[in-house]
Amino acid sequence: MNRNSATSPGNAAHSGLDVETLRHDFPILARKVHGRPLIYIDNAATTQKPLVMLEALERFYRRSNANVHRGIHMLAEEATAAYEATRGDVARLLGGVDPHGVVFTRNATEALNLVARSWGQKLAAGDEVLLTEMEHHSNLVPWWQLSQARGVRLRHLPIRDDGELDLARLDEFIGSRTKIVSFTHVSNVLGTINPVAQIAAAAHAVGAVVVVDGAQSVPHMPVDFSALGCDFLAFSAHKMMGPTGVGVLYGKPERLEEMEPLLGGGEMIREVHLDRVTWNDVPHKFEAGTPNIADVVAFAAAIRYLEKLGMEAVRAHERRLTAYALERLGGLGFLILYGPPNPERRGGVVTFNDPLVHPHDLSTILDQYGIAIRAGHHCAQPLMRRLNAVATARASFYVYNSEADVDALAEGLLEARRYFGHATTPAR
Ligand code: PMP
Repeated sequence: MNRNSATSPGNAAHSGLDVETLRHDFPILARKVHGRPLIYIDNAATTQKPLVMLEALERFYRRSNANVHRGIHMLAEEATAAYEATRGDVARLLGGVDPHGVVFTRNATEALNLVARSWGQKLAAGDEVLLTEMEHHSNLVPWWQLSQARGVRLRHLPIRDDGELDLARLDEFIGSRTKIVSFTHVSNVLGTINPVAQIAAAAHAVGAVVVVDGAQSVPHMPVDFSALGCDFLAFSAHKMMGPTGVGVLYGKPERLEEMEPLLGGGEMIREVHLDRVTWNDVPHKFEAGTPNIADVVAFAAAIRYLEKLGMEAVRAHERRLTAYALERLGGLGFLILYGPPNPERRGGVVTFNDPLVHPHDLSTILDQYGIAIRAGHHCAQPLMRRLNAVATARASFYVYNSEADVDALAEGLLEARRYFGHATTPAR
């Protein structure tokens, strides 16, 4: 395949990230797929891991492995200190918030479920939860379960045809019955960056609590929890160079205090009698049992790696790649591109369809060229219906991607058309 680098603007110099150099930090990027160098542009699904994170994981098991919060031997103290230190790293990444608000979960999904199930216990029939049409299933299904269990009414703020939330209609959807407003910061399909502070202010004006799904924002841009103005923020370590099996629910400590724990057992208690139990302090009352110690410890290495790059630089790099991808893919002339046309308004996600080639076929053909994209409904079936699409293809970028990857994708899409015998120029 022809890598037409002549069409690429200069690479690393603009964003401050030295992509060619930092790629060496990610062992998997040296891999070949079907005999071709791997071009991994499925980062919204999960990201690749830097060596420092892999080494931190191994180092923990080799040197410090012990259970946390229990033993008073050296290894137990080391393990506890390392596990607790990651709370501090997370809190620093979120703009210097109180580490007591960091609850470790398995993933963003579990973090959102924790709020829905626990805060949801305060809701009664007739109360309303406001979501949006662009939510991932993980921010739809837990609320749907709540609606079934408690007779709570779900409402969904519509999106406009340009992929932005229809904020002009926010007043119609937020009112005295609204108790929770839960929405994504950045859409995993459209890429849209939602104005969290504005929505949070409207929600707080009616006394609702605000939950933000940060799965696609925290890994990709500076996120200052206090500036967002929300009460809860959920995200996953594996989407930000960390290990699978670790998520975060960041909650204002005073909100977490008001919540009942979901799981009972060791660690989450202060006193257990046969007839009564008292809870441990936050955040521990939400972390029953032995936590995912090693992965939480290794997550800290991923956060430090990102901080070293600088979240502003990460954002600038992805914004530039997204602008280039919109221009390059749009220039093919035959693709439907979804989401806001302005790259300032979106994260590093470009979702598209070729009206003549099913996204699964596109993905299969691209895979032959070593290019990993995502095809399907992206865990957002209601949004697919709103877009009149059964499925879409999605390229999503991270720090190790370059304009050359976008060029390879564009060439691959042309190859797919040729393979199926379709014209590679748009019909006039
Ligand atoms: N929300 C959004 C916007 C996502 O993109 C994802 C992952 N695709 C999730 C939530 C769920 O993340 P996880 O599967 O790690 O729980």
